[in-house]
Amino acid sequence: MMYAMIEQTARRLREGSVTSRMLTEDALSRIRERTAMGAFITVCEEEALRMAEEADRRIAEGNAPLLCGIPMSLKDNIVTAGIRTTAASRMLADFVPPYDAFVWEKLRAQGAVLLGKTNMDEFAMGAGGETSAFGACRHPQDDRFVPGGSSAGSAAAVADGQGMYSLGSDTGGSVRVPAAYCGIVGVKPTYGRISRRGLIAFASSLDQIGVLACSVADSAAVLAAVVGSDILDSTSADRGVDFLPFSGDVRGMRIGVCPALYEKCDPAITEMMRCAETEMKTRGASLTEITLPDADRAYAAYYLISACEASSNLARYDGIRYGYAAENPADTADMFRRARACLGDEVKRRLLAGACALSADERGEAYDRASRTRRVITEEMRTVFDSCDVIMIPTTPSSAYPVGAMAAQTLAYRQSDAFTTIPSLAGLPALSLPGGKSDGMPLGIQLIAPAFGESFLFRCAEVVEEAMAYEH
Ligand code: GLN
Repeated sequence: MMYAMIEQTARRLREGSVTSRMLTEDALSRIRERTAMGAFITVCEEEALRMAEEADRRIAEGNAPLLCGIPMSLKDNIVTAGIRTTAASRMLADFVPPYDAFVWEKLRAQGAVLLGKTNMDEFAMGAGGETSAFGACRHPQDDRFVPGGSSAGSAAAVADGQGMYSLGSDTGGSVRVPAAYCGIVGVKPTYGRISRRGLIAFASSLDQIGVLACSVADSAAVLAAVVGSDILDSTSADRGVDFLPFSGDVRGMRIGVCPALYEKCDPAITEMMRCAETEMKTRGASLTEITLPDADRAYAAYYLISACEASSNLARYDGIRYGYAAENPADTADMFRRARACLGDEVKRRLLAGACALSADERGEAYDRASRTRRVITEEMRTVFDSCDVIMIPTTPSSAYPVGAMAAQTLAYRQSDAFTTIPSLAGLPALSLPGGKSDGMPLGIQLIAPAFGESFLFRCAEVVEEAMAYEH
């Protein structure tokens, strides 16, 4: 297993043993070979080759940044000037943004090579990549299973060698869940660590851009390239890169574990977690048993808050300001109706739930209750971190679920976010890394740190990664 793939590739690019053009052509042909998997909504072949040639020139001149010339992808809710961005919705099927998202502005300036825009659940609502208006994305190992979502194509692409890393977004688990299901690393940084300018909004108080990559070192290197505050996102914080380099040493680190959660999990997960615990103890960390806020309560609050925020955020898709503009509408009501008809069922369900909760009859009481629950959970998490530096729990209670489980509302589908919404509600950084398998399908270990504690997160993650020696 090669852990610092990006660094090694950057070295090879500088030595001249490979060119960005070669890497890009390889990735593009892999994408072409594997179209049935559905990882991409848009492949920008011409642009990618142009960027690769430019990167090769920069590398030859010397002083190119680390990510220069490395092929990658962006989830299709991150806007790219001149390149179609759909959020996997018919509503935005023809939307070509006039500007670049903050993160893409940064990566482009560093010479990143964009292969294309990855498939996802429509407007990032889902956990399996099944609600895309452009057809579902499938698991790279077995097409009877979902790759996880909503950053489905990002995870599937990286796991399948279609680009070396991808940026996704995580509102309640959308980077960590697909990373776990596909056997790669996914990191959602602290809320505010990265500007959300140009991320198509789902639930603004929870949305955060994250990184999907093959290793902990790779994910940290990419994160370092995209963090930063921005005047156009008032919730972004300028903390700089305070998490690199990390030592790979957990001696004296206090790791919080929660065996009570294992009761809800696949036995293979329990076994993996027990093994990780022993390994970390052997390497000098101390384990403390912690109690986490109730997962069901957290999920209920998450669902309500995100639905309310979505109903307000998605109101802009009225066919006038944004979204599908119907031809020859009879009147504005007709125009609005026809635009809204472009939304898929899952999106409509959430918007209705949110609009109901915020309606005059309800006077926002449910939203207030959910917000109070969120504050209590945030407070409880702060207390948990009095007794530990990092929390180590499973990312999901089981491995990837079968295609169609969402429509059937099976338990495996409904529980996929059970362990990921707590850090989202509390705005905490969290990372999923592969730690084992169940029937050949990957399983993820989730690490959670206090706000802006990414240095703990990566330091611990690197040691877990090395200890578990996950085989792809
Ligand atoms: N699966 C969760 C949901 O459906 C989380 C989605 C996300 O993080 N964007 O809302």
